Amino acid sequence: MTALAGDVLRSFDPSTGAELGGVPLASAADVQRAVARAHAAFERGLWSRDAKLRARVLLAWADALEAQAGELVPLIVRETGKIVREARAEVAGSVDALRYNAGLARYVGGRAGTLPDGSVAHLERTPLGVTGFITPWNWPLLLVLRDLAPALAAGVTAVLKPAEQTPLVVQRMLDIGYGAGVPEDVVQVVHGVGPSVGAALVRHPDVRAVAFTGSSATGAIIARDAAATFKTVLLELGGKASNVLFADAELDRAVSAVVRNAFVTAGQMCMACTRVLVERSVYADVLAAIVARVRALRVGDPFDEATDLGALITEQHLARVLGFVEDPQRTGTIEAGGKRARPAGLSGTFMEATVVAGPARGATIVREEVFGPVVTVEPFEGDDDAIALANATDYGLSAGVWTADVRRAWRMARAIRAGTVWVNGYNASFAEMPSGGTKHSGLNRTRGVEGLELFTELKHINWQGLEA
Ligand code: NDP
Repeated sequence: MTALAGDVLRSFDPSTGAELGGVPLASAADVQRAVARAHAAFERGLWSRDAKLRARVLLAWADALEAQAGELVPLIVRETGKIVREARAEVAGSVDALRYNAGLARYVGGRAGTLPDGSVAHLERTPLGVTGFITPWNWPLLLVLRDLAPALAAGVTAVLKPAEQTPLVVQRMLDIGYGAGVPEDVVQVVHGVGPSVGAALVRHPDVRAVAFTGSSATGAIIARDAAATFKTVLLELGGKASNVLFADAELDRAVSAVVRNAFVTAGQMCMACTRVLVERSVYADVLAAIVARVRALRVGDPFDEATDLGALITEQHLARVLGFVEDPQRTGTIEAGGKRARPAGLSGTFMEATVVAGPARGATIVREEVFGPVVTVEPFEGDDDAIALANATDYGLSAGVWTADVRRAWRMARAIRAGTVWVNGYNASFAEMPSGGTKHSGLNRTRGVEGLELFTELKHINWQGLEA
């Protein structure tokens, strides 16, 4: 990407505060230029009409990313502050998204048939056109490729605005793609801040679709801005996931899974298990088991293989997360953590893994997305109570149900309003299966065949006079 203005967007390591480098900062004029180029590339049709080329290029990009994992993993760790194990998983997931969608590039959608008047209907799927991608910092490669790979497989051309905190690793991922054959006018990037550069992309009349991952508040602005020019929108927004633990579940396995998934990326993950709902008869024992495990978690150097929680992304974000715990109106007791952490030799933005037990029903901390290392534990009294508690939030992204009773698991899974519900497990994700949220957690689905079809539109071509 080349920016017209000579300004630089700088990137910092949240673990140490050290500056890592910078990229050219784009302006609204750069967005106009990038969209015009993407539009011309789409109209030329070399990409949008050649499915074999798309499949080949996506596979080559996957191979190149995999080969460069040794460079990408440390860059992810430095720019996000997340632990090295997660950074490895992120590169692997990104490669998988490219490979799965490379196969789908040659899937031919649409259908044909004869209508009652004897005419022949041909229903064709065509790529939407220029698509804008706006992404957050917490999983900076995966969240780009999760949506970009199916869109490219469908034949769109793309302009990406990544999060301002993680420009270096996204730029490196794209440069690897260009080296592997991704045409530079098919995928472009504009680095800049959301309300100017991101908004210019969303409002541009030649952008036909916007794929956004980020907070629900920003998602509402994007939906409003996109509506003015009738764009297709994919909104992957915030979450407030409950895991419901019944007394008959394999509780050791459940406790281990909820603790692991409450503190993924130091809790800065949309699907983080932020609420644990426990059947009253086993509440005290399960709470004690959770607290023991959480107290044993290590906060510190994200490059150390023994570390469980790395840094939070910025000072401002850390202050926001601490605000939920320090809130004088907060109910419940702090059973573990609750404070800023200061690991030896690191001056960055760390927080202790925190457990809040027994908050009041409907309290802010059990309704709103904290997006940090804080888990709440609440008792419930039977199936209906568990369903009511799990649904008592505006979010509806994901949930988990733990029980040995198959009928109960089925009933619970169907009654909890969320885009994904795991039974006796949590947070497995699959390129094959659509994912996304209900209520304030989003609109439409990414992944799977449905994730590709979202970036297409249907045309009915009707043949008359063929009856004879
Ligand atoms: P934000 O909504 O603050 O930012 C996301 C992206 O939107 C950034 O690139 C940001 O730019 C950009 N942006 C901000 N304002 C505008 C605007 N007015 N117009 C266009 N673009 C804009 O989210 P965070 O980065 O804080 O990410 C955390 C959130 O993302 C959490 O709520 C989390 O749950 C959610 N998320 C959802 C996922 C899902 O799959 N459902 C996955 C991962 C995260 P800038 O960087 O300049 O601020």
